[in-house]
Amino acid sequence: MSQQNHSTPFLQFTPSYTGIATFMHTPHTQNLADADMAIVGIPFDSGNTSWRVGTRFGPRSIRKNSLQIWGYNRHLQIAPTRDLKTVDYGDIICDPTRIDKTCEIIRSTVAQLLETDCKLLFLGGDHSISFPLIQAHAEKHGRLAVIHFDSHTDTDGSDIDGLDHGTPFRHAFAKGLIEPDAHIQVGIRGPLFDPNEYTEAQALGIKILTIEECFELGTTEIIRAIRDCVGDHPTYVTLDIDSIDPAYAPGTGTPEVGGFTSFQMLQLVRGLKGLNIIGCDLVEVNPLYDHGAITSILAANLAFELLSVMGKGKGLSGGS
Ligand code: MN
Ligand code: MN
Repeated sequence: MSQQNHSTPFLQFTPSYTGIATFMHTPHTQNLADADMAIVGIPFDSGNTSWRVGTRFGPRSIRKNSLQIWGYNRHLQIAPTRDLKTVDYGDIICDPTRIDKTCEIIRSTVAQLLETDCKLLFLGGDHSISFPLIQAHAEKHGRLAVIHFDSHTDTDGSDIDGLDHGTPFRHAFAKGLIEPDAHIQVGIRGPLFDPNEYTEAQALGIKILTIEECFELGTTEIIRAIRDCVGDHPTYVTLDIDSIDPAYAPGTGTPEVGGFTSFQMLQLVRGLKGLNIIGCDLVEVNPLYDHGAITSILAANLAFELLSVMGKGKGLSGGS
């Protein structure tokens, strides 16, 4: 059935607040055979979220608040949803009562999606989802480099039995999915449960840039350190929204004061241009604690920047 057009004659474009809220109005399809990039929601927050639950509502809120992003990225000179065939896959349906089952659903679904050449940007959900996502990408690309923006190391505990949102990278290292010395954590801060937390992460082969070091270095030098760390490796980017100060991103599960501004994080993501980025996730957006959607608006814009750098990366034809 064709849709009737009731637009007035002077209306030259579709208003951004109309229609079904896919990410930036990209077409919805689960057939990625011809797609260059796809947005995939993972509304899962049963990863023992240690403080405030609600990130299952993240993907929907980020999509809704992406609708007013006009499309052209003047910093990276690409329109990632227009220059490339970028689609919205919708969500991977999780089992909120069973994290092990959910991880297997995520790993196997994503492994199947990666049989195409499509690159994927995932919207969480809590940070536990990065473990099966890294698993699926490592099955395709081998050991990965990881660029990890966070206020927490997410390598908690020496007991690797229980996956939760504070341990995905400990699990990924235990499975040999990450290249030691090619994982960099940026923005780490806050009170610790265990005084050895950072040295334990470093012992796995992680380079940590604490927020104090980041502010000392400035964005240009942080970007240089990131690029030195990951080199040409196939690189997975994981962005925990709590890396940004809760003044700019209050809508998250475990906020830590004293973080990056919105502008600094936008600059850091833009600085990833040209790296061999094979996949990205953006996690821990919790709309239940947001105000005026400021966290979701920021997350939507960071997702746009991630799509832009991924679209500019190796293997895709868009941009220059
Ligand atoms: Mn965090
Ligand atoms: Mn995290």
